[in-house]
Amino acid sequence: MNSRFRNLSPYTPGEQPQGRKYVKLNTNESPFPPSRGVLEAVNRSEAELLRLYSDPTSDPVKTVLAERYGVEPDQVFVTNGSDEALNYAFMAFGEDGIAYADVTYGFYGVIADFNGLTSRIIPLEEDMTLDPDKYKGIRMACVIANPNAPTGLMVPVDRIADIAASDPSHVVIVDEAYVDFGGESAIRLIREYKNILVVHTFSKSRSLAGARVGYAIGDEALIRDLETLKYSSNPYNVNRISMAAAVAAVRDGEYYRKNCRTIMENRAWTVAELRKLGFFCRDSLTNFVFAEHPDMDGRKLYLDLKERGILVRHFDSERISNYNRITIGTREQMEQLISTIRELQEQGGVS
Ligand SMILES: *Cc1c(COP(=O)(O)O)cnc(C)c1O
Repeated sequence: MNSRFRNLSPYTPGEQPQGRKYVKLNTNESPFPPSRGVLEAVNRSEAELLRLYSDPTSDPVKTVLAERYGVEPDQVFVTNGSDEALNYAFMAFGEDGIAYADVTYGFYGVIADFNGLTSRIIPLEEDMTLDPDKYKGIRMACVIANPNAPTGLMVPVDRIADIAASDPSHVVIVDEAYVDFGGESAIRLIREYKNILVVHTFSKSRSLAGARVGYAIGDEALIRDLETLKYSSNPYNVNRISMAAAVAAVRDGEYYRKNCRTIMENRAWTVAELRKLGFFCRDSLTNFVFAEHPDMDGRKLYLDLKERGILVRHFDSERISNYNRITIGTREQMEQLISTIRELQEQGGVS
């Protein structure tokens, strides 16, 4: 391999078991199926059209998203998963370096290295909140997952505006993969702050992780730069079936909003139950909770749950090695999680 890539350490995706049926609470997918409109759009006649290339402009998706978010179609960039939007954004705007938190989405470091960019790691505070002042005047691009994964915590959108205002010549990438579960979007800022780029995904709240659709919203000039990179590397980045699914999903907004409300109710229930079992767990604004127990080893809990058919996400990185990130699923799934943890505690004799 070319020398510049020999030291890459690639991203490790969460386990996607294809055999045994787990209660799958490890990669923040939706427990609910795509909407009826999506199921109808992904049909035989669409499949027959697969002999033709997809629309390289992604205009049908841009149009519905622009209407949904009150922006112009040329302020929208549509990608093969939001990971692709993040990669193009790093590639386009990261030449002076890219800053991000120590505890955040692990993919940021991987794509920074992939693009040969300098990473500046800004540790979260002791309580795992993010201090926006530490991003002001750093003279490089930054990416903030808001709400953050895996902590579930959010920076107020006005503080994002302050970061952008501190240095209009560098881009602030706001990764809002989880914003639909109670967060607030920075999209309303993009007209005033031409260096804010908001990145969204269809993978979490819109039940389309397997379709791979994401998008970025920002000033037309930023979007033009991203389009240049796309047309220089993968012009047909979104396939025909996924595009049809994405358009239908945006049209079926009410169905997904209802699902998000259900997830938020299940989240409140789960957090309360985990606390009764002695877990430390902050209030989350996402479709997962991040929890640790003073008397239970995080890695062992992950393995014990896996043995009993429940998959959660454990990270080895030292600062968070006692935590597990648990996706919020259906009420039944969460009841199964809680009763399994209770059994483990009874067997292990911990409080
Ligand atoms: C899941 C996730 C993504 C990636 O989503 P895809 O659209 O599936 O590529 C991006 N950012 C964060 C913080 C995520 O958790």
